[in-house]
Amino acid sequence: MTKTTVLGMPSVRTPPTRSGLSYHIRTFGCQMNEHDSERISGLLAADGMVPIETPDQADVIVLNTCTIRENADNKLYGYLGSLRALKNRNPGLKILVGGCSAQKDGNLVMERAPWVDVVFGTHNVHRVVDLIDQADEWGPVTEIWEETSAAEDFPSYLPTQRQTAHSAWVTIAIGCDNSCTFCIVPAVRGREISRRVGDVVGEVRALAAEGVTEVTLLGQNVNSYGRDLELNGRRPVFADLLRQVGSVEGIRRVRYTSPHPKDFREDVAVAMAETAAVCEQLHLPLQSGSDRILAAMHRGYNSERFLRRLGMARDIVPSLSVSTDIIVGFPGETEKDFAATLSVVAEARFDQAFTFQFSPRSGTVAADMDGRLPKELVQERFDRLVELQTAISLERNQAMVGSVQEVLVEGPSKKDPTMTTARTRGNKPVHAAGNFVPGTYLDFEITGASPHHLRGKVTS
Ligand code: SF4
Repeated sequence: MTKTTVLGMPSVRTPPTRSGLSYHIRTFGCQMNEHDSERISGLLAADGMVPIETPDQADVIVLNTCTIRENADNKLYGYLGSLRALKNRNPGLKILVGGCSAQKDGNLVMERAPWVDVVFGTHNVHRVVDLIDQADEWGPVTEIWEETSAAEDFPSYLPTQRQTAHSAWVTIAIGCDNSCTFCIVPAVRGREISRRVGDVVGEVRALAAEGVTEVTLLGQNVNSYGRDLELNGRRPVFADLLRQVGSVEGIRRVRYTSPHPKDFREDVAVAMAETAAVCEQLHLPLQSGSDRILAAMHRGYNSERFLRRLGMARDIVPSLSVSTDIIVGFPGETEKDFAATLSVVAEARFDQAFTFQFSPRSGTVAADMDGRLPKELVQERFDRLVELQTAISLERNQAMVGSVQEVLVEGPSKKDPTMTTARTRGNKPVHAAGNFVPGTYLDFEITGASPHHLRGKVTS
């Protein structure tokens, strides 16, 4: 059975109907998916279920999928293959597939993995409990989203089970109105819908009342926030939202991701500088340093404009820490194009770069472009880029040695539980000896640096 639905409110049962059953969620992809998984977790917990760490004993397994890269699909179907034996052993097990691959592939998921019980789309998260009911009663069900328009229906208040008590993601917009030729997001997440300012601020206040001190505002392009909203004859803009969220009592850190370089303007940088809680951190995705490739990607800026905006942000926000995304091997990329990327990276001096090798996604314009590069050539360019950026990251981190940084404690280090991992306002991980309470703010002196993290010791 395939059904299309629109955004709506969750079905939370009173009393819960699945008390004592367990669920396991595996999340692939970005923070948007991580946050959706928190909502799925919240809905299942509200129905009486308890989360477990591994899938083996679970009554319900949810895969929240990503389709940004080609190997994401391979990972999904590989993982689904491994769940088949569990389903054979326990026919009552419910396997759910949600997220972007589910939205993109719909019924194809069940054709390839007929042991799946529920496939649900990117805007159908709120229906997860009902869909399990349907699968119980009627058998496998696919429900994907096709069209939406109403900001009134934004799923603002789904129950959420957060991964940490002190930090939370807050969605401010879903979907994207851009058309980057390599990106599947507009096809699977739809047009941009901004959430009303009052709803965002209301959620942040509620989070602060629960003890959250750090929020990260999420949107595909936060700088176009509010274009579809009108309030008292004027449209809210992201800079205003930042100021309002930053002034919520109890909130000490505000982050956001991601801005789009073509829309990133001075008002946002000024709001960052003038709002104490907004962290000195910016993720500004470059994607390529070649103007020719940027045009082929439909990014809406050239390298000079990118660097100008980055310079503006650094002038206005002292100590800004900047990260970026870069794709290597876009169709038709020449050595000259790649050299332009290296040149912009050398000039921009990012603190961190997330580097990717181009992989075609079916359904995107770039997937049908001529000029695909041999894998070895892409790998060789990728290695050169990583080498350059690693040296710059190390240099940027070394410049912090000797400084004192406010850090927020995350918890024991994953590699060494005798160490603590904390994070600076610039979003850099710092490891220090000893154990400190997660969620506390401390001052660390930075005593050492490597390309991807800092070392420190407590001073307060
Ligand atoms: S801005 Fe471009 S890369 Fe980002 S989500 Fe929209 S289409 Fe994709």
